[in-house]
Amino acid sequence: MYTIEKKQGTIGQSSSKKLWKFSEILADSIVRERWEKVRKYFFLRESTYDMTRKCNIRCEGCYYYEGDKQHTKDNRDPKAWRRLMRAEKKRGITYAVLAGAEPSLVPELCEICYQEIPLGTIATNGLQYIPESVAYKIHVSVWGNDETSQRFRKAKDMLRRQIDNYKGDPRAVFVYTLTRHKIDEVYEVMDILGKHGCNVTFNIFSAPVGYDGDLRHTKKSLDHTRKTIMSLMKRYPENVLFSSYNVVAHTHKYGLHDLYSCSYPRMNPSTDIGLGRSFRQYRTDLTWDRDVACCVPDTDCPDCRHYAAGSAVVTARLFRHASHPLTFKAWLDYVDTYLAVWVMGYEKGKNLCDELVAPPGHGIFED
Ligand code: SF4
Ligand code: SF4
Repeated sequence: MYTIEKKQGTIGQSSSKKLWKFSEILADSIVRERWEKVRKYFFLRESTYDMTRKCNIRCEGCYYYEGDKQHTKDNRDPKAWRRLMRAEKKRGITYAVLAGAEPSLVPELCEICYQEIPLGTIATNGLQYIPESVAYKIHVSVWGNDETSQRFRKAKDMLRRQIDNYKGDPRAVFVYTLTRHKIDEVYEVMDILGKHGCNVTFNIFSAPVGYDGDLRHTKKSLDHTRKTIMSLMKRYPENVLFSSYNVVAHTHKYGLHDLYSCSYPRMNPSTDIGLGRSFRQYRTDLTWDRDVACCVPDTDCPDCRHYAAGSAVVTARLFRHASHPLTFKAWLDYVDTYLAVWVMGYEKGKNLCDELVAPPGHGIFED
């Protein structure tokens, strides 16, 4: 057990002084209210689906075009997709993540997924508009300003085209990926997204297996990323969907698996409970392989700080965080953020904990 103490503006861990009961933590009415708000969504059970192996651009460091999954054939048969979605619903899947390569190129299949499983998210590069009849969250990936996108994604005027497509769309969340050399550029991009009233969350670049390019983060670039996001949260409170604990979890020198034990099948042999039992990652030919199943397959696990991975890996760790009021508030902020980013109609509340709280069992940003 541990309690938490203040240390140089952050929160570290020490040996226990008090063992907190969950009922004591919930005695705070604000905490109890937030807990009641988020726990209504504990029914969400996700699986992910690669919709097509085609993409309209080619980005450096794209995890889709790594490993075997890119070599499957596309199944474009609407009846087969409807059968799959119905079978998924039957085995308890309540949430669909439509992903790589580029789902907007097969809107008719996205529509079928939405009709059968009405909660979900589409990960897109945002260059082709997805019809509003598909009322999933739309995550638009942003890697930097137009010059950077031209260099790393080989696409012209990318930010302008993404904003033209999704400005004012309640489905849209712009997901800004911070790579090692393009951290300060986020200020310029946030100014533009802020002016257009766009919602933004942050992703930390996580290297694909075998990637040795210079987008991979270092301890120094993670420290820089942390300070940058903390300042953006203050500067754009209306636009940014993030919390201090998101910052901790995703910029720690350890990746998500080392901090929280990843619960996706690829890293979790248990087939009895949780994601290990229910999660599948379907390829474009509608097959799946338990040994490689996770939300970001072919990402290098020790380097995994991906926002999509954290949504499941951190939120699953309720009991570890329910041991002290401060860690529990930090965890509630994380879950509240996750729901605002991933669930249509869910409104993020004010963060309950603005301090940097150490992940249970770990120090905070130590060398
Ligand atoms: S848009 Fe996405 S799927 Fe397409 S190449 Fe870029 S990262 Fe890969
Ligand atoms: S890449 Fe991330 S989410 Fe996938 S298995 Fe590895 S640690 Fe888990």
